[in-house]
Amino acid sequence: MIQIYTGNGKGKTTAALGLAMRAAGHGMKVIVIQFMKGKINYGELQAVKMISGITIEQYGRADFVDHDNPDPEDIRLAQEGLKRAEETIISKDYDLVILDEINVAVDFGLIRVADVVTLCNKKPEEVELVLTGRYMPEELAECADLITECRELKHYFQKGVRARKGFDY
Ligand code: ATP
Ligand code: MG
Repeated sequence: MIQIYTGNGKGKTTAALGLAMRAAGHGMKVIVIQFMKGKINYGELQAVKMISGITIEQYGRADFVDHDNPDPEDIRLAQEGLKRAEETIISKDYDLVILDEINVAVDFGLIRVADVVTLCNKKPEEVELVLTGRYMPEELAECADLITECRELKHYFQKGVRARKGFDY
């Protein structure tokens, strides 16, 4: 199946990581390919070292990407991530492939939506594919078997609380 977790509320990446943990518990092999993320010490990077079967790879810089004028390096890294995603999906080496924040990479113009649609169409029957990120492009909705929207009803950010270790990163 192809699953998409999108929306402006918190929980998309953590839902995907929860799924990774569940699949790993059944002996499945999981790869998480993260777009637009790099260098920040996310807890999940350390946690997966304690669980066998889950690999995380990052294709992004530490800096924020400029929506209107992305750095060529941002584009290069995102394209590299896309290539890696295609490799892992086609090879059937992994039972679950998670492309974290790929929707955002499309929204920022780092990746063409048509390339993601092509990728979805190449997915072998036995591979489960998860795409995450706010701003899901409409074109991807048709590829998906499941779409969950995380909708913000309340977020502590609104009262000035910034990212918290262990809960936000
Ligand atoms: P998480 O990684 O915690 O599951 P997410 O993947 O749903 O969050 P993203 O859009 O990828 O959310 O943003 C990641 C960061 O932004 C996290 O630190 C998260 O807490 C924060 N965040 C998510 N939604 C909101 C929101 N509505 N307002 C402010 N910050 C948010
Ligand atoms: Mg996320």
